[in-house]
Amino acid sequence: MEKLRDTLRVRRERAILVGAVFAGNSEKSDGLIELAALAESAGAIVVDKFQQKIHKINAATYIGKGKTEQLAGRVIRFNADVIIFDNDLTPSQIREIETIVKTKVLDRSELILDIFATRAQTKQAKLQVSLAQLEYTYPRLTKMWQHLDSVAGAGGGTTAGAVGAVGTRGTGEQQLEIDRRLVKKSITELKRQLQEIDKRKIREIDARRGSFKACLVGYTNSGKSTLLNTLTGADAVTEDRLFATLDTKTKKWMMDGAAEVLLSDTVGFVRNLPHQLVASFKATLEEAVNADMLLHIVDAANPNAIKQIEAVRKVLAEIGCGDKPVMEILNKVDVIKKIGDLELLQTLFPDAVCISAKTGFGLDVLKNKIMEKYRGTELLLRVTSPQSNGKAQSFMRAYGRITKEDYSGDSVIIEVNMGRNHLAGLQRLGIEKIEIIESRLI
Ligand code: GDP
Ligand code: MG
Repeated sequence: MEKLRDTLRVRRERAILVGAVFAGNSEKSDGLIELAALAESAGAIVVDKFQQKIHKINAATYIGKGKTEQLAGRVIRFNADVIIFDNDLTPSQIREIETIVKTKVLDRSELILDIFATRAQTKQAKLQVSLAQLEYTYPRLTKMWQHLDSVAGAGGGTTAGAVGAVGTRGTGEQQLEIDRRLVKKSITELKRQLQEIDKRKIREIDARRGSFKACLVGYTNSGKSTLLNTLTGADAVTEDRLFATLDTKTKKWMMDGAAEVLLSDTVGFVRNLPHQLVASFKATLEEAVNADMLLHIVDAANPNAIKQIEAVRKVLAEIGCGDKPVMEILNKVDVIKKIGDLELLQTLFPDAVCISAKTGFGLDVLKNKIMEKYRGTELLLRVTSPQSNGKAQSFMRAYGRITKEDYSGDSVIIEVNMGRNHLAGLQRLGIEKIEIIESRLI
């Protein structure tokens, strides 16, 4: 597999970015700013941008033959090593374009997969990325080899059947068969290893069932890790790069009055995240699925903030978090240049809290809002107390809903649903043991 990965790497390579914009589409293009940030995050040097208006996708070359030929000229002029498309290409389009421009062509998903591959730190993240790469690359293998074959035989071939020296062709097909088998085997093995890790992760999440859990989600580079650090004193990596964080990190956040929140940082999202990646990061994103509430961090200073919010909401729905309570947080308000931009966001998202994770602005308001939610959660408690403790039992009857009572010896074990705001009162009433079995937002 090493060979294939190498061909997709772009580190220190001179890249031309290509974006097709559909004529008649009212959506404004960002001038390939995000693709440039992605390419630079992967280590490439952007030497040129080529944006083209097209009426429809050309089946062979996506942007059309004439434009692809112009692109070939630019490859020579800018001495480029790689062309990166903002759009996702089919394997045959990649092959066709490579034949014309005579250099490597990558699409957006391949680029994102490459960034994830360089960032993966833990075993779990590495396995998840490898799996996504294999699943995205696998269906492209056939076509890649056909392409290599036709390049090898370019001098002598006349008709399709006679392309390539017989020996080369045979080697290509054998190689393809070997590759296919290897890929299939690797996928199975990766899935097995991931399942093991996932089980551990699920046990970990399970152990935190009774705690109040808030999960930071948002577009990549929006400030999730910075906020985690500011609030909890954690040392999560923060960087002005896309996808600095690939692993979830959970820290205790002590709010006022001994209220304890478990705050988790997650991998950031991006527009058109390859779905193979979303699928293989499902376990990492379990943290979000299991949270009591999501804190959606928005980079309010980014000109594409609204589009980014939509992209995040789309991924959240995809991973089964569509109905979760979400608090929108407009971050980086310290660097917003035009006040009108912030006002627009506030009009569109009237409940959003404005903060700066960097300067600390607005964090008190944020804390109070989360505290409100915290107090509003309902707990399922298992309370063990002496039978003679009538006070505790009447407290639970008054403020909770008792679902089970078990008498054994001098004790009674009561299961009761109760608002978290009454927990402190109950704890003062001479109880042997209180276990939090479940916590949910109401
Ligand atoms: P993540 O990808 O969402 O985890 O984002 P990070 O926490 O790594 O932050 C991305 C970049 O934005 C870093 O360079 C941070 O220093 C910067 N950043 C985060 N929050 C703020 C903020 O409130 N104001 C400013 N000016 N920069 C911020
Ligand atoms: Mg981060």
